[in-house]
Amino acid sequence: MTLVPCPQCKSPKPPHQACPHCGTFRGRQVIRIKTKRTAA
Ligand SMILES: [Zn+2]
Repeated sequence: MTLVPCPQCKSPKPPHQACPHCGTFRGRQVIRIKTKRTAA
């Protein structure tokens, strides 16, 4: 499985999928990421 660094957060991600960390794909916010992390 090939991973490329996300241009936003630099996390490795599949090249043709939205980044699971920051939710961006090709420079656009495509999925919502929960910013509030209450769970420890
Ligand atoms: Zn990212």
